[in-house]
Amino acid sequence: MPADTTHALGADQSEGEHEIARIFALQKAAYLQNPFPSYDRRIAGLDKLIQLIETNEDAFVKAISADFGCRSKHETIIAEMLVMVSGARMAKKSLKNWMRPRGVPTPLHMLPAKSKLEPQPLGVVGIIAPWNYPVSLALAPAIAAIAAGNRVMLKPSELTARTSDVMREAIGSVFDEDEFAVVVGGVETGQAFAETPFDHLLFTGSTNIGMRVAMAAAKNLTPVTLELGGKSPAIIDDSADIEKATNPIAYGKMLNAGQTCVAPDYVLTPMNKLDATADAIAAAARMLYPEIDTTADYTSIISDRHFARLKAMVEEARDRGARIIEVGSSNALYPQRKLPLTLVIDPPADAAVMKEEIFGPILPILPVGSTDEAITRINKGERPLALYWFGEDTDARDRVLQQTISGGVTINDTLWHVAQEHLPFGGVGKSGIGAYHGRAGFETFSHLKPVFYQSRFASGGLLHPPYTEKTEKTLSFVRKIL
Ligand code: NAD
Repeated sequence: MPADTTHALGADQSEGEHEIARIFALQKAAYLQNPFPSYDRRIAGLDKLIQLIETNEDAFVKAISADFGCRSKHETIIAEMLVMVSGARMAKKSLKNWMRPRGVPTPLHMLPAKSKLEPQPLGVVGIIAPWNYPVSLALAPAIAAIAAGNRVMLKPSELTARTSDVMREAIGSVFDEDEFAVVVGGVETGQAFAETPFDHLLFTGSTNIGMRVAMAAAKNLTPVTLELGGKSPAIIDDSADIEKATNPIAYGKMLNAGQTCVAPDYVLTPMNKLDATADAIAAAARMLYPEIDTTADYTSIISDRHFARLKAMVEEARDRGARIIEVGSSNALYPQRKLPLTLVIDPPADAAVMKEEIFGPILPILPVGSTDEAITRINKGERPLALYWFGEDTDARDRVLQQTISGGVTINDTLWHVAQEHLPFGGVGKSGIGAYHGRAGFETFSHLKPVFYQSRFASGGLLHPPYTEKTEKTLSFVRKIL
């Protein structure tokens, strides 16, 4: 059980619970006073978010790096700051359109009535965030929730405590506590948070904890969005140019030292190209991080526990006969917990590297005989959060797209579908429930209220009792036009 960052365990439990209950009551009362914030108020909220991200960029860069041991400044700016600001700007541009009641078709026999979906804020929403992108995975859902007119409570991860402190202070400096507040704490605080009767709860984290969160939320019938993990495959098709495929795979795996929910978890490559694939990925990794031992471009593993977990995975695979290729030496790297890219060639299916989400820079590479074998292999496991396919053969590509189910897909690259705000982001099956980003995020945090506007020329009364000959005639007409 991870230690709490601010309190001893018992104190965490009571203080955390008390704080959550206090802020929730405050936000609920504020919601009841003003349940439907105007467009202008929501835009002001999004402006505050942009302002707090931009003015605290330096503080976030430093705090995240201190929490990790080393986190590349550029990775923080690209994968956290820019992503959030572009998400918030896109929400600002689209908000008027998103807030507008949307007409839906009305069947012929109900005309001339009209039907609309009218978005409304849900109320007070909770966000539980993980440590791997500690700012963007906390604030990106908040952007969607605030655009949708909600009040927000956030529980960040205890593993990135310095970042949480910066976030709490930055949010507190621009938002009132009844609009947006942060509660810090460990597992007990998380449990109490998940048991709070929010109007919606978005959780980002592991599948195991996600299940517990869903069970806790179910006690209040709180709807949940679960952004979880899994084993995301990268398939190199026979038609692929190996060099073109392996560069994005090395990049996608080594960004944040593989501690990315949508990182390619393992690679499936044509049997006769196994060695060429491993060589090309190793070469790409060396190009990306030529001085892996010393460069500040390469991120540390978050904790000793995760470092030991990853090393143990490699050792187990080695003991089970898999060939291990370390791209750089790991010996000098321990004090900063930097783990070089480690390729694991053809491990057994029941090795930990093939059973568990890796969440680090270890990359199993497995040979497959055909597209069908790749599809069968993927479909034997849980549904992945992401899938990557490389190649030129569009028939093979379409077969993979049609016959596998994953949260999202990028073709001929890695990670990019997540940055495309117009594409909903979320998992399927064990990799998650629901989605956000762009309009999908606005709708996740809204109630799309269906409203039927009856016309004064409505003919429905013709079907009211007393049932007569006229009713029969109307019925036979309706049957014809249904
Ligand atoms: P985690 O599940 O250990 O923790 C996530 C959050 O849940 C933390 O804030 C933690 O304090 C809190 N928590 C822990 N126990 C809790 C409980 N019983 N009740 C309520 N809250 C509790 O995950 P992590 O280690 O922080 O993150 C890594 C995992 O997150 C990986 O599996 C990764 O794939 C996944 N992830 C998914 C996405 C996505 O968008 N789908 C993004 C990033 C990470």
